[in-house]
Amino acid sequence: MFAQVVLPLSRFQTFTYKVPAQLSGSLRPGSFVNVPFRNRAATGVVAEIAPSTDYKGALKAISAVRDDLAPLPAELWTTLEWISDYYMTPLGLVLKVALPLGFANPAPGRKQVRAKITAAGSTALDGWNRRAPAPKSLLSILAARQTPCPVTELVRLVPSARTALRHLSGLGLVELSEEPLPTDPLGPVSTPQTATVILTAEQSVALEALRRGRKADRFAPFLLRGVTSSGKTEVYFQAARETLAAGKSVLVLVPEIALTPQVAARFRGAFGEAVALWHSHLSRAEKAWTWRQLQQGRIRVVVGARSAVFAPLENLGLIIVDEEQEASYKQEDRAPRYHARDVALVRGREAGSVVVLASATPAVETYFNGLTDRYRTLQLTQRYGGAAYPKVRLIDLRLERQRTDNYQLILTQPLIDGIAQRLERKEQVILLQNRRGFAPVCACNDCDFVAECPNCSVPLTYHKRANELRCHYCGYRAPGLDSCPDCGSPYIFVLGVGTQQVEEVVQGLFPAARTRRMDADTTRSRHAHRQILEQFEAGEFDILIGTQMIAKGLDFERVTLVGVVNADTGLAFPDFRAGERTFQLVYQVCGRAGRRKDRPGEAIIQTNHPEDMAIKAAARLDAHRFYNQVLAERRELAYPPFTRQMRLLLQGADRDEVWKRAQELRRRLIPTLPGISLLGPASAPFERLRGRWRFHLLLRSDREHDPGGSRLRWLIRDRIPQQWLEGSLKGVRILLDMDPVSLL
Ligand SMILES: [Zn+2]
Ligand SMILES: [Zn+2]
Repeated sequence: MFAQVVLPLSRFQTFTYKVPAQLSGSLRPGSFVNVPFRNRAATGVVAEIAPSTDYKGALKAISAVRDDLAPLPAELWTTLEWISDYYMTPLGLVLKVALPLGFANPAPGRKQVRAKITAAGSTALDGWNRRAPAPKSLLSILAARQTPCPVTELVRLVPSARTALRHLSGLGLVELSEEPLPTDPLGPVSTPQTATVILTAEQSVALEALRRGRKADRFAPFLLRGVTSSGKTEVYFQAARETLAAGKSVLVLVPEIALTPQVAARFRGAFGEAVALWHSHLSRAEKAWTWRQLQQGRIRVVVGARSAVFAPLENLGLIIVDEEQEASYKQEDRAPRYHARDVALVRGREAGSVVVLASATPAVETYFNGLTDRYRTLQLTQRYGGAAYPKVRLIDLRLERQRTDNYQLILTQPLIDGIAQRLERKEQVILLQNRRGFAPVCACNDCDFVAECPNCSVPLTYHKRANELRCHYCGYRAPGLDSCPDCGSPYIFVLGVGTQQVEEVVQGLFPAARTRRMDADTTRSRHAHRQILEQFEAGEFDILIGTQMIAKGLDFERVTLVGVVNADTGLAFPDFRAGERTFQLVYQVCGRAGRRKDRPGEAIIQTNHPEDMAIKAAARLDAHRFYNQVLAERRELAYPPFTRQMRLLLQGADRDEVWKRAQELRRRLIPTLPGISLLGPASAPFERLRGRWRFHLLLRSDREHDPGGSRLRWLIRDRIPQQWLEGSLKGVRILLDMDPVSLL
């Protein structure tokens, strides 16, 4: 027998090894093995087992099966192979992403000792007649807990707890265990709660559909569309409960744990330690620990961001993708450039499970799949608890500026009046401005000078507090300007409005109001998000000002006004999804207002383009109109979902070399195949980024003629040498991006 083994290398290649007779029964695709590789031992994963091989050279044998690592679930293995093929990325690289530690041994992390009462301990407590107060208090505290309690916590409650615990443990009344300190953005695990919730009629219908999907025991994809505040979470949460009760496991994907604390807290609260959180802030040791727990089957629910889609859960019954439209599900910075939503669907297909894509404002592609019955659509049209929709007002910024003769106007009178009214009533306000910093452009009044990043072709953003110009792409910083570096003029001005400036204006108008800003600048530390949100919920400040991160599924009862300072910030991007993103953002943020029946909400949207279709539809909360019109446009222009796109991005330090290589790619790809068209090469919208020149080509294939995109991939494999796609050639790298979400 022979095995093809994948090693974590960036090559489109597997390695052939002989299978020793004693191992032939215990191997399957997905098994971890030790093999000799270039005079050292390496760990790899078996991709294939075959009775014969074409390989003519001398073959080495597999040294051992890693019995400390269970084989990957078969459906997960098939999914990883699909990713390698579809995103045209070597399987070794896919494995590196899916097994976040590579195959390395994890570094030891911080440990925590926890105590748990034993059965003997409970008996002893009942008949306790000794005088010692410390052991008794410890036993009573532990008896009230269902989960092991950290010793550090007990030390604060009981004097000389450590000595008493050692004593109790010696008597077998308490069990001490040492485990890596789990990192938890939600704080300690609370005791599982079992609240009974009454579902609305719509929610019950949706839940019943998911239940039938689960019982059918095969792949069943759903789009759960609910207006903001309609209780989507409640539906998939109940479905998760039933799935677990049926002995299957559950995977919940959220755009970013820190931005969706309520979803994670919900699961943690209900299922306690059967839930693992998986996100980018975990340390190596914590990841290793969680992964091992998963492998040993101790965890049955995973809540996590993008890469949690690779969690080695066995017997998967339900996959939930919350806020499925979010761009953060797409890995853009390195290969494989996968979309976690699409991977979740493939995994669901392979595992034969229910997949729920949940959103108030689904991606246009997802909406289309619902429309064409590839997914079954479940609708929630009523706000939970009878809350009314917010009243939405569009304010034309151009008219207001003319009327007031103030061309620097940031907050218009209706918005100012609205804020004043809420402050008086002790209610809360959210202000959205989707740009951080003070002002996004700094320019000269007397010549053409605009302060640009020396490494990137983008303007520098002015940060007033630090008096600095910063690049938000590469991190470049320079001191603020007193005069124009080109003509010496002292008349330097800033254009556009960032969150810092909004905060300054609000503080000027309402000096007594308490304000906080939430953007990438104020949330660098690990718990900053959660702290700001908790303080807001507790009413510790009145006005929350922030970028798009405040628009996500937050639920605050006292917020009755949402102001959008400028709805147009995203519209100017040279990207066919600009309108879609603007619609989603404005619609979502409007949903933050008035989540209670007795406190109706209002949203005030300031815009220079009140006639823009995306903004108009969002303000009317008219999703149907928006999707219908966008789909018509996309069909006309041959954009997704009617075509599939593959972007070939070339990057390098030498502009001429990058351009030459781009031309050569074009020559090789022409003529394409029927149904496939080629655009470019052209400079990318950001022609230079982090010091590298960027050109791109775009291949588009017609969904009708090439439904799975295999013809498109065949074209690339046939015409472009493999080694070009794996490394860099004369300093030029070629990056492949299947189904790109951004073309910047
Ligand atoms: Zn100048
Ligand atoms: Zn830069």
